[in-house]
Amino acid sequence: MKLTPPIATPAESRTFGLKHAGQVQRPGREAVRMKGWLAAHRFWLLRRLVQCAIFGLFLLGPLAGVWIVKGNLSSSLTLGVLLLTDPFVLAQTLAARHVPELSALIGAGIVVAFYALVGGRVFCAWVCPVNVVTDAAAWLRRRLGIHTGRAPRGSLRYWLLGAVLLASAVSGFAAWETVNPVSLTQRALIFGGGVAWGVTAAVFVFDLLVAPRGWCGHVCPVGAMYALIGRVALLRVSARHSSRCNDCADCYAVCPEPQVIPIALKGKDRGKGGASPVITDSACTNCGRCIDVCGPDVFTYTHRFDTRRV
Ligand code: SF4
Ligand code: SF4
Repeated sequence: MKLTPPIATPAESRTFGLKHAGQVQRPGREAVRMKGWLAAHRFWLLRRLVQCAIFGLFLLGPLAGVWIVKGNLSSSLTLGVLLLTDPFVLAQTLAARHVPELSALIGAGIVVAFYALVGGRVFCAWVCPVNVVTDAAAWLRRRLGIHTGRAPRGSLRYWLLGAVLLASAVSGFAAWETVNPVSLTQRALIFGGGVAWGVTAAVFVFDLLVAPRGWCGHVCPVGAMYALIGRVALLRVSARHSSRCNDCADCYAVCPEPQVIPIALKGKDRGKGGASPVITDSACTNCGRCIDVCGPDVFTYTHRFDTRRV
């Protein structure tokens, strides 16, 4: 069955992507047949390796007494030298009118510079442990053919970001950090604990039954912060070989933000003429799943100024 994506406005694109994602139960089968299993999963495997390596570094200290990295994803110290601070934590600290130490400011500056280059939401797809939970929920949704629920508007996460900063200003402490599923999932994996596992399970059930791809794509204010940081990022995915597209819709089915694909893939931006094949929407997580599952290799990583379309 061919599914022909229309040229769509962003709102229509969102509807289109979600609708088609629901129709494709086993995306990537054609890619496995054409390229082999390894090539059809290479960026998925690489992401899991990176996530496990980061998690393993945090685990080495508490479990084996080897303190290469101390702390957590909110604030960490590597080899006793490199301090990294989550910019969202720093923003909450500033909103709460606490004066951060210079080292925390430098640590946040390093994180911002890195993600401003490679794409802010690279954190979501390549680092954050919640990504494993939400990817699992999306996979199970597809396999079980669940069509219940509806994702809230993507702008919700930005409103939540503002609300968290306001709550920090009023309360005088970093408000999100008491409920942050990112640090709670990390804590659940390392130390266990009922509350931490409960929050992680709630995110899974939310994405599985209530809102498809709801948490990362529509709610999480950490993701919103990183999306803002990555607005002008250099590293991008391009639908360079869009003429090869056979409209199987597998890329829409696996993409956590399917509304970012149609304009780059179809080459026309309604009312604005020809569009660049580069996906410049900061919601794109640079996860590379569209590259993996596309049999005819339409997508590739490149930089934002590479507008070649062949
Ligand atoms: S870009 Fe690739 S995965 Fe997406 S619809 Fe076209 S052929 Fe299918
Ligand atoms: S467009 Fe591709 S790289 Fe970007 S979020 Fe979707 S699947 Fe991931």
